[in-house]
Amino acid sequence: MSGEKFDAGMAPKKCICISCPTYKDCGELAFCLSKKEACKAITEEKGCLCQSCPVHEAMSFRHAYYCTSGGEKHQTTKTEKARYARKQ
Ligand code: SF4
Ligand code: SF4
Repeated sequence: MSGEKFDAGMAPKKCICISCPTYKDCGELAFCLSKKEACKAITEEKGCLCQSCPVHEAMSFRHAYYCTSGGEKHQTTKTEKARYARKQ
């Protein structure tokens, strides 16, 4: 699937969070696309399946634990801010 244009609207259908030991049924899936910081219902990290998810590969995402750490954009911004702060 990598390289093809992926329809982000399909992400909840392809998301494999439901099989993850960390997941709690909070009515949400595809946390990687979420603009929120984190899902308040999920507080304990017990492993993350994102690296083996077809959405992760198709979107060339780089992070994990989207449910507890926020979506890809949020985590990327946080990483870049931290890198910038270290350079100051
Ligand atoms: S990358 Fe993770 S959060 Fe995103 S759709 Fe896949 S399993 Fe769900
Ligand atoms: S984002 Fe990762 S850790 Fe969270 S439920 Fe989905 S696969 Fe599991």
